[in-house]
Amino acid sequence: MSSIRNFSALVQNKALINGSWVDSSTCATFDVKNPASGEVITSVPDMTVEDAQKAIKAAKDAFESKEWRSLTGKDRSNLLKKWHKLIEQHTEEIAEIMTAESGKPIAESKGEIIYGNSFVEWFAEEARRIYGEVIPSAVNNREIIVMKQPIGVAALITPWNFPLAMVTRKAASALAAGCTVVVKPSEDTPLTALAVAKLAEDAGIPKGVINVVTTAKAAPIGDLLCKSPDVRGISFTGSTEVGKLLFRNSADGIKRVGLELGGNAPFIVFDSANIEKAIDGAMASKFRNCGQTCVSANRFFVQEGVYDKFVSQLKQRVESLKIGNGKSCDVQIGPLINEMQFNKVSGFVEDARSKNANIVTGGKGLSSLGSLFYAPTIVTDVPPTAKIYTEEVFGPVASIIKFKDEAEAVQKANDTRRGLAGYFYSENLQQVFRVAKRLEVGMVGVNEGIISAAEAPFGGVKESGVGREGSHHGIDEYVDIKYICMGNL
Ligand code: ADP
Repeated sequence: MSSIRNFSALVQNKALINGSWVDSSTCATFDVKNPASGEVITSVPDMTVEDAQKAIKAAKDAFESKEWRSLTGKDRSNLLKKWHKLIEQHTEEIAEIMTAESGKPIAESKGEIIYGNSFVEWFAEEARRIYGEVIPSAVNNREIIVMKQPIGVAALITPWNFPLAMVTRKAASALAAGCTVVVKPSEDTPLTALAVAKLAEDAGIPKGVINVVTTAKAAPIGDLLCKSPDVRGISFTGSTEVGKLLFRNSADGIKRVGLELGGNAPFIVFDSANIEKAIDGAMASKFRNCGQTCVSANRFFVQEGVYDKFVSQLKQRVESLKIGNGKSCDVQIGPLINEMQFNKVSGFVEDARSKNANIVTGGKGLSSLGSLFYAPTIVTDVPPTAKIYTEEVFGPVASIIKFKDEAEAVQKANDTRRGLAGYFYSENLQQVFRVAKRLEVGMVGVNEGIISAAEAPFGGVKESGVGREGSHHGIDEYVDIKYICMGNL
């Protein structure tokens, strides 16, 4: 067992239903492991479908209760502000938990807490600004009034790559809107979610408003969340495959569905680019969280005039990355999250190698550090038939493809069914506008490799998802528009 067990009162090993910290009704548990060392940190309840049903009921009762329904936007704002403050005060402890269960370098864990908590702050502010409308009527004695009301219970299914931010980005907007939630965190990283739920409780958020169901068997509980008539919205961040399944399963109940799915982000470097800035952006976009983010650059397209320079500078930077257990503060690259991801990443690189791609650096596991460490890798001469060309690698592997002109770059960048983020580097103003408008993605980074922010709408087009999180649009996922016709005035 890792020492974290004794470290923090924030390490919870029970699930949260209706304000009580509970075991699974079968008393079954599953282990949470540190991917850097393989050590078991603790175990958490392996909740059943019946347990999840109780969580839905708790959320429904809380939604209808006076303690929640009668709160004003300002009251909810104050509760969210208290939650924000507590998360801020516990940054060190949460970061240690997050690094232990996700392998993320400690500096990145702290960065994620600041980022994830910025959504709590933002939606605390937005809670007071859920405005309706009075629309001029064409009929003399009528008024058209539009108001926004919370949809009800929302189920939030979150991934392991941002164990805090994906919970807060969804839960803070849902709560600001007046909804209550059932959170189903990833089985790889439940402890961070439980820790922030504990802080929500400490902040005075009423019982049943946030429920957390931990489970190692996501499918049947996911099925229940999609099909229960008491759940009015599903918000999911994760793989495209699971997102499609949830979308289908939510169809019968005509649920509100928000999906943030996989990307296949192009990162284009034009001849006109500032190469130093492009290299900085490439490192941040590709190697943050060991390449395990859905907005990570997945395909680098580099114009022939700057190709050699870009590859050699990137190689230098990649080879200087410090790899190891994320708890050391100088580590920049931790392990991959689990064996499945490790096998996927190494399989993709082997597939490219077998198709005559050139491995410039890396291309192997680093077993002396641990079984889940993979060397930061650069692959060039990637043929379009290689898996890393078409699929999201979700690991520290940069695939670089040479192009001749802008039209070719844009055509190749858009030649995918995904459309989450896209990046390009150019100092040519006309080109900047042309390319930004033509990329088929939900988010564009122009001369910038890290673009996500609480104030900005996060989300994708094509098969990368529906809906937006963050920004003032984030509230829309959790409210219904109601039109009231005031007649015969
Ligand atoms: P990743 O590739 O990021 O692990 P997943 O889509 O497998 O993505 O996981 C994201 C979240 O979806 C996790 O909380 C996981 O437990 C959950 N999940 C996986 N399969 C299902 C399913 N069939 N129904 C509902 N949730 C699921």
